[in-house]
Amino acid sequence: MVSQHPNSHVILGGDFSVYLLRNWSNTRLLNDYCRQNGVFPVFRHEHSTIDYTHHFNMKYFNNIDHFIVSEQLYQASILKQFVLHNVDNISDHDPLCIHVALDVAHIGFCQRGTRPSPSWVKATDMHIAAYKETLRTWLKDTVLPYSAILCKDVCCTDIEHIDSINVYASQISAACLSSANDTIPFPRCCGTRGCIPGWTEFVDPPRNNSLFWHRMWVDCGRPRNGIVAKVMRKTRAQYHDAIRKARREEDNNSQ
Ligand SMILES: [Zn+2]
Repeated sequence: MVSQHPNSHVILGGDFSVYLLRNWSNTRLLNDYCRQNGVFPVFRHEHSTIDYTHHFNMKYFNNIDHFIVSEQLYQASILKQFVLHNVDNISDHDPLCIHVALDVAHIGFCQRGTRPSPSWVKATDMHIAAYKETLRTWLKDTVLPYSAILCKDVCCTDIEHIDSINVYASQISAACLSSANDTIPFPRCCGTRGCIPGWTEFVDPPRNNSLFWHRMWVDCGRPRNGIVAKVMRKTRAQYHDAIRKARREEDNNSQ
C-alpha cells in the first residue's frame, strides 16, 4: 500500500488494540505489518511521551491507540507525540496528538461543514410517515436503468451500464437524504451544550470535586491503589454520571 505511493507521506492513526510493549499475538501482527509496509509506530520515537491512551475505570492503563507514519516522517519530522488527559473527557480513550514539521508550499482548505444530520431518534410516527410519503414522490421520478439491471454479465465493463447504475444509486441516496432533511427533526446544535439546564447546579460541583482529586492524584505520582486513587476514581465517575444525566434529561425535555 505505502510502496504504491512512494511520493506520499502516510499517517495512520487510531485504536489498534495493540500494546506494543507486550508480546501479544496481535503485537506481532502489527509489527509484521509495519515492517512489510515500511511504516513506523510513533510510540517508539524518541520524542514520544505517552503514559497511557486508554484506561479502564482509571484503574488499568494501556497504550493501544497509535500513530503510525511512513519512514521519512518518522526519521525527520516528528516533533512530539503526547496524550491529552482531561477530566472532562467521558470516553475511556484519551486523545493522542502528534506535532509534525512539514514544509508545505500550499494547503487548500475549506470551512468544515458542521451541518447537523437528521436525528432519527427524535422522529415520531408522524415524521416517519411524512418521510415515506416524500421519499415515494422523489423516487417516482427516478428512471430505472433497465438494460443495466437486466445485464447478466458479472464482470460487465459496459460503460453505459456502469454509468447508469451509478446515476441510479446516487439518485436513490439523494432522494433519501433530501426526504429526511425535509421531514425528520434535527438535533440541537452541539455548540448549545453549554446551556443545558441544571448544568451549573448539578454538574459543576462534581466537576470541581473531580478536578481537585485528579490533581491530587497526579501530585501523588498517579498511584494505582490507595485512598487517593480510590477517591479520584469515585469523584470522576460521579462527575461523568452527572454529565450523562444532565444530557439525558435535556434530550428528554427537547423531544
Ligand atoms: Zn452489463
